[in-house]
Amino acid sequence: MTDITIRGAGIFGLSIAWACVQRGAAVQIVDPNGAGAGSSGGIVGALAPHVPENWNPKKAFQLESLLMAEGFWADVSRAGGVDAGYARTGRLQPVADAAARALALAREGTARDLWQGRALWEVIATPDTPWQPDSPDGHLIRDTLSAHLHPRRACDALVAALRAQGVGVVSEAPDSGAVVWATGVAGLEALNFIHTRSMGGGVKGQAALLHYDARGLPQLFAGGVHIIPHLDGTVAIGSTSESEYGDSTSTDAQLEGVIAAARAAVPVLANAPVIARWAGVRPRARSRSPMLGAWPQRAGHYIANGGFKIGFGMAPKVAQVMADLLLDGHDTIPDGFRVDDNL
Ligand SMILES: Cc1cc2nc3c(=O)[nH]c(=O)nc-3n(C[C@H](O)[C@H](O)[C@H](O)COP(=O)(O)OP(=O)(O)OC[C@H]3O[C@@H](n4cnc5c(N)ncnc54)[C@H](O)[C@@H]3O)c2cc1C
Repeated sequence: MTDITIRGAGIFGLSIAWACVQRGAAVQIVDPNGAGAGSSGGIVGALAPHVPENWNPKKAFQLESLLMAEGFWADVSRAGGVDAGYARTGRLQPVADAAARALALAREGTARDLWQGRALWEVIATPDTPWQPDSPDGHLIRDTLSAHLHPRRACDALVAALRAQGVGVVSEAPDSGAVVWATGVAGLEALNFIHTRSMGGGVKGQAALLHYDARGLPQLFAGGVHIIPHLDGTVAIGSTSESEYGDSTSTDAQLEGVIAAARAAVPVLANAPVIARWAGVRPRARSRSPMLGAWPQRAGHYIANGGFKIGFGMAPKVAQVMADLLLDGHDTIPDGFRVDDNL
């Protein structure tokens, strides 16, 4: 007897499945394309916080999720024997000028309050090391909350952990129990067809992998680009943001622009060879926030979508609130994140 059918084996579907299985539920996962076939099969994997100011439920939810991530990924990796590539090595960002430094210094205080002493945001003098962004002001912002993982491997790690609990990903199966639609962009497009108002759509992103060994060093955000040193001796560079696109998986000159921006911002990457290029489509709900909870007018059906640019960062907490709702009927979804908020 299956308690929950999850349709979609991206990071949202797999994480929700994992949270439910851990609480003893019988789960089946259905995806005609296999696990990680959508935007979750990518290469970037920044788990980076919002700026610590103008606090709101979305930032609080994301903070909780980022703080849960270390334990979540350690459990997953241990259970299935596949490493998700998670490391909390912080982040460095350049400071443009004196005004930007004053703002960044003010945020040291707000971070202390809002991040509850769990992580630091501080302004430091640029250290004399090669792995850093050029900083016009001679200072960097360093935070110790940012972490990263390898998205494709994180999906593999969840698949292995679930398999160890007897749960596989199948290409088709009839509904049984509560049904969760974690179907990414295809799910948003289906909702747009059903509802008269747009519920969201896709935003394409292109990213690249460079061969450069910076494992264990902080991620960088410079020149508008996320630069992620993975634990396998590669560095991910991302991403473009394209609301209009034709082919969802091709890469083009826009990606070369992102790579050039990364090389300009971080001189040590100037000659690092590109070893892979990748593109996918992020699911963006109309509200730009995750879209979670019961599917109105469709009893027994639920939606988990809208991960947009931070689906991996949100996944541990999304999984928790969806499991609370599915298994205990306890709705802990923050205002602004419900399916209704997009209707
Ligand atoms: C270039 C790029 C860079 C990114 N960088 C980051 C980052 O640094 N940090 C971060 O946190 N996030 C990042 N993201 C965003 C993140 O990848 C997404 O938010 C996340 O992958 C969304 O996960 P999902 O499970 O909702 O959707 P998807 O991964 O798209 O999964 C949906 C799944 O549903 C399946 N499906 C579709 N229709 C059906 C159906 N009818 N029945 C069953 N299954 C179905 C598909 O095959 C697919 O496997 C990035 C995205 C891109 C494109």
